[in-house]
Amino acid sequence: MARQILIAGNWKMNKGAADGAQLIKDLKAQFGSGCSCCCSGAKKPEVLVCPTFTTLSAVVAEAQGSCLLVGAQNIHWADQGAFTGEISGAMLKECGVTHVIIGHSERRQYFGETDATVNQRLKAALKNGLTAVVCVGETLAEREAGTTNVVVERQVRGALADISADDMKKVVIAYEPVWAIGTGKVASDEQAQEVHAFIRGLLKVMFSCPCVADSTRILYGGSMNAANAAGLLAQPDIDGGLIGGASLKPADFATIVKAAA
Ligand code: PEP
Repeated sequence: MARQILIAGNWKMNKGAADGAQLIKDLKAQFGSGCSCCCSGAKKPEVLVCPTFTTLSAVVAEAQGSCLLVGAQNIHWADQGAFTGEISGAMLKECGVTHVIIGHSERRQYFGETDATVNQRLKAALKNGLTAVVCVGETLAEREAGTTNVVVERQVRGALADISADDMKKVVIAYEPVWAIGTGKVASDEQAQEVHAFIRGLLKVMFSCPCVADSTRILYGGSMNAANAAGLLAQPDIDGGLIGGASLKPADFATIVKAAA
């Protein structure tokens, strides 16, 4: 099954509203007028940018009429209430976003995110009609201990608990080995493909409908850049990228998008 490639930029805690809007202007300049993008037809990748909360509205406004999709970096499971520092799905929708990253390793590492809270946040995203990019991935210690598949399986099963085959139409999985995020140490094409194939096989086991495994997009994240993107994106089970550092550099991000076409 042909899966549409998704190239997603995770801006993390970078770019306030003015700088974020400027980055969108720069990206549009890279992609050409009207953002008919650098490519056309069935292979045209989806391109998503995920700024910080306070930058969302400015970026949504600047991206209007272009091919750029806009997502957030987190979502709370409740609709409203006493959850200082959090944001609800309805609030994100009001900003005009369509996507949200959930369970990024930095959230797991620094903010106590667990498989259970990832699952709750995913359910909130789906309830609000948002497409979720759910992140999973092993640490270096886990890889060296030979437990990559065990860890990834636990994270995928935990994130997708009680999620239906129909819900999966709005779920994207991002395999992001923690040791490759922001380190410049990218997984080799073969290492990445091996885990992506494992995740797709796991989806086959988890969902009786084979279309789920065939149609779910699995992105690679971890030091993807203009130089290594083509090799990773050529792998049969890699359906795009979640890109941190390189997504802040318009020419590099555009090169990655072009490599996906
Ligand atoms: C990320 O934060 O999801 C990421 C992959 O970062 P980087 O590309 O900088 O490694």
